[in-house]
Amino acid sequence: NLILAIETSCDETAASVIRNGNEILSSVVASQIESQKRFGGVVPEIASRHHVEQITIVIEEALEKANVVPSDLDAVAVTEGPGLVGALLIGINAAKAFAFAHGLPIIGVHHIAGHIYASALVEPLQFPLLALVVSGGHTELVYMKGHGSFEVIGETRDDAAGEAYDKVARVLNLPYPGGPHIDRMAHEAEKGVDFPRAWLEDTYDFSFSGLKSAVINYKHNLEQRGQEIIPEEIAKGFQDSVVEVLTTKTVKAAKELGVKQVIVAGGVSANRGLRESLQKALDQEGIPFTAPPLSLCTDNAAMIGACAAYMYEAGVRGDLSMNGLPGKELKSWIQDDNLRQP
Ligand code: ATP
Ligand code: MG
Ligand code: FE
Repeated sequence: NLILAIETSCDETAASVIRNGNEILSSVVASQIESQKRFGGVVPEIASRHHVEQITIVIEEALEKANVVPSDLDAVAVTEGPGLVGALLIGINAAKAFAFAHGLPIIGVHHIAGHIYASALVEPLQFPLLALVVSGGHTELVYMKGHGSFEVIGETRDDAAGEAYDKVARVLNLPYPGGPHIDRMAHEAEKGVDFPRAWLEDTYDFSFSGLKSAVINYKHNLEQRGQEIIPEEIAKGFQDSVVEVLTTKTVKAAKELGVKQVIVAGGVSANRGLRESLQKALDQEGIPFTAPPLSLCTDNAAMIGACAAYMYEAGVRGDLSMNGLPGKELKSWIQDDNLRQP
């Protein structure tokens, strides 16, 4: 199948053409990072305006780069949630207009399912699998028995991993988004500050707000005593804590569930420290590990097309009544039977 996919859930306007769920014919991402940087985060109204300006250009570019005309396509896929409602609706309305104009079915994809399916663009998914989702708004361990089956076995009780990265980056006066800067600085440090690890007993849940407070207090104390602050050592201490907890819980769950593959998904999966740590720990256990290339970790439309390809094969077809689902959780998306087992 040949699918045009559209993603506008946050601050990236993206379109992609995907063949058979694993071949990227094009993947265009127009980022708003430069204009959102000034505000130290994403301002919803500005995001929406950017999407409106970019969406048509991005879709045309994706088709052109893929050397595809609308009549070649089998379906249009679009992120229906979760995300910023105004941003989502711009992608959804563009998808609806395109589907209507060219007589194509429309398929709504859950953004986090999309992040997970980025790995299907690297190699075929091996079930049962465990996905560690670490993004700007989510941190969860997802168990998948097969395509379209998502069981959330653990999640964050407060901040998402990416959110913690961005907040700590702000404390260190680094530009938005802070994840890549902290990652780089952590690798430049010789030693890291010893920050706590949030184990939360035997659960697969996560917590990052305590760590964030520990970073703030540490910096504040040094400032009060007039001592030198070495941001690289803070960055490394923070990253070591995040990576150790994420790796330990992921490996434990993978062993306990006896999965055939572990994948990592979402913007924070671009993190070098995390990728190296997971690779090493899973190699030791002999469990295959997949991390998407960096361009497929942060928001993109190729991952939405990859997920939609399986939905298309499973017979899922949406219609023009589709609406934005800004707060949709992965677990309830499945209950809606949006993505059935083939
Ligand atoms: P969600 O997917 O939960 O809706 P989102 O789409 O805003 O949220 P993503 O685009 O998947 O999030 O990821 C963005 C996040 O990834 C940001 O918080 C950013 O700081 C973080 N990030 C990007 N690269 C790195 C890196 N190398 N190390 C750590 N964090 C990173
Ligand atoms: Mg983003
Ligand atoms: Fe995302």
